Amino acid sequence: TPSIGVLALQGGYAAHAAALADLGQPCREVRRPQALDGLDGLIIPGGESTVLLRLLESEDFFARLCTFARQHPVFGTCAGAILMAARVLDPAQPSLGCLDVTVRRNAYGRQNDSVVQTGRTLLPGPDLEMVFIRAPRIESAGAEVETLAWRDTSPVLVRQGSHLAATFHPELGQDRRVHRLFLDMVAAHAS
Ligand code: GLN
Repeated sequence: TPSIGVLALQGGYAAHAAALADLGQPCREVRRPQALDGLDGLIIPGGESTVLLRLLESEDFFARLCTFARQHPVFGTCAGAILMAARVLDPAQPSLGCLDVTVRRNAYGRQNDSVVQTGRTLLPGPDLEMVFIRAPRIESAGAEVETLAWRDTSPVLVRQGSHLAATFHPELGQDRRVHRLFLDMVAAHAS
């Protein structure tokens, strides 16, 4: 089995660990940069991206995470997707830049703070049920970025090589297709 980490500084890391456990995949909770060593892939959970950025300021964690993300599969959800994006709006803020998208934070407005919606997906099987919590919107994506699911017409699940990002929370639903895809990406990268 590959070695998967979940960034466990803040936010929804426990639900990701539980989703991986559903698939028989153990994981390591990453709280310090040294814990990245030896991992084959990393999940960056939802939470609050500004808080995550502040917690990454110590021990050169941000720079080490950047280096890790350039070389390994990473899956970010919501705030994790914001951290991965090349460009962040509302307001602009630093990011790892490992995914060629522009995201706008909290883009769906107050009425939409928390919403469950079904959307079209290219993943095999039925439409995806998606939980959105103060979600960012992917405003634009580079030519290398594939869209794998949509909310109305906006991309909400995107992939670029071994990087995967969701603006919703697949770890909070019952459907494990998105986590399974990430494990497949990790296996493909390792071989
Ligand atoms: N609104 C949060 C942010 O801007 C993301 C919300 C989430 O991760 N559920 O970081």
